[in-house]
Amino acid sequence: MQRDLEFDVVVVGAGLAGLALCAALRRTQLSVALVEGRPPEWPVGGWDARVYAVSPSSARFLDQIGAWAHLDSTRLQPMARIEVFGDRGAQLDFSAFDVGVGELAWIAESSLIARELWEGVKRQANVTLLCPAKPAALAVEGGRARLALEDGRTLDAALVVGADGVQSWVRAQAGLEARFTDYAELGVVANFRCERPHLGTAWQWFRPDGVLAYLPLPDGHMSMVWSAPEAVGRELLQYDAETLAAHVAAAGDHMLGRLEVVTPAAGFPLRLMQVPRVVASGVALIGDAAHAIHPLSGHGVNLGFADARELSALLAGLDRGVLGDLRALRRYERRRAEEVNALQLTTHALHELFRPQWPALSWLRNTGLKLTARVPVVRNALVRYALG
Ligand SMILES: Cc1cc2nc3c(=O)[nH]c(=O)nc-3n(C[C@H](O)[C@H](O)[C@H](O)COP(=O)(O)OP(=O)(O)OC[C@H]3O[C@@H](n4cnc5c(N)ncnc54)[C@H](O)[C@@H]3O)c2cc1C
Repeated sequence: MQRDLEFDVVVVGAGLAGLALCAALRRTQLSVALVEGRPPEWPVGGWDARVYAVSPSSARFLDQIGAWAHLDSTRLQPMARIEVFGDRGAQLDFSAFDVGVGELAWIAESSLIARELWEGVKRQANVTLLCPAKPAALAVEGGRARLALEDGRTLDAALVVGADGVQSWVRAQAGLEARFTDYAELGVVANFRCERPHLGTAWQWFRPDGVLAYLPLPDGHMSMVWSAPEAVGRELLQYDAETLAAHVAAAGDHMLGRLEVVTPAAGFPLRLMQVPRVVASGVALIGDAAHAIHPLSGHGVNLGFADARELSALLAGLDRGVLGDLRALRRYERRRAEEVNALQLTTHALHELFRPQWPALSWLRNTGLKLTARVPVVRNALVRYALG
């Protein structure tokens, strides 16, 4: 009979949240297993379709866990300024200079960060990487969690962390409820080469056909995220490269001149997911397993990094025997709840206010945007929201 493999912590899911948590546990005495179902695939040449606005606090965290300094700096774009447009000409802008910071965010490809974290965690002495491997059953009893894998191995640990994305298997096994609000929208992403320089500016347009964002990428490139009603999103995905480039250039007021597609469009369904309880005895959730948010905030991945930072700090200070203790884990839950709820509510409210299907709100939202631009308190609150 096979003996159980024993660990202090088992992390399921090697996305950015799971990898960051493992890397953050590097300086602890804890033994960690990382279980990932799919071996990673990195884009060969070209640009990754998925691009993030990494907040200054996420960049600091990535630095503390040893990843940031190793990222290829030629693929990192500081974002110095944001310009936001309403659907009736209202405008709001703010810059890093205005608020006395070096940059509002760093624009980076998902695979740039994931690859660095993956390579680091692979070499990390206290992490056993099990990939490809998938869990088949989870039981928590007498202060220990047992995770049976599909390949017949069993992992025994004080704590199992679900970092396995929005359809989290761990969350379902632990009986933690997830409430979904479907936006009936697609997030359509693509990258373009631009005729005019972006000077580190991001643009966002609240349009009748969705929210369109241009994020600056290095070397005269730009990443588009268009959160569009499903029918519009499907149409965008069907365009050939030339039609898409012309359409996106026109939708963005030709701000960057002529565009040329360098990464074809890809689409993702958009929804809000709220998880009222993100811990149970012997189980904790981080990243998209614990929350999903509309991409108009640009904060999904930042929330996942903050979860990893908070949970790793808690675990580092606990005795081995109580790592899965519900009272201890509730501290992590409480510390994260405020930020996650506030960001989810603000982003949801913004989305509802600018919902393309509600033209009656057009006056209110454009007036709101103009007022926000003029009232420093509100403006600063919005900047803090943008900085994460
Ligand atoms: C269109 C779109 C645009 C976005 N834009 C932004 C943006 O601009 N800024 C931003 O911050 N965020 C953005 N996001 C959100 C961001 O992509 C996510 O927040 C982030 O990728 C979540 O990371 P994660 O590690 O929690 O989950 P995931 O990246 O989903 O990783 C989960 C991992 O778990 C593995 N896994 C799943 N199930 C199992 C299992 N049963 N067994 C073993 N392994 C398993 C998966 O293979 C995967 O590797 C966007 C999302 C979308 C859809």
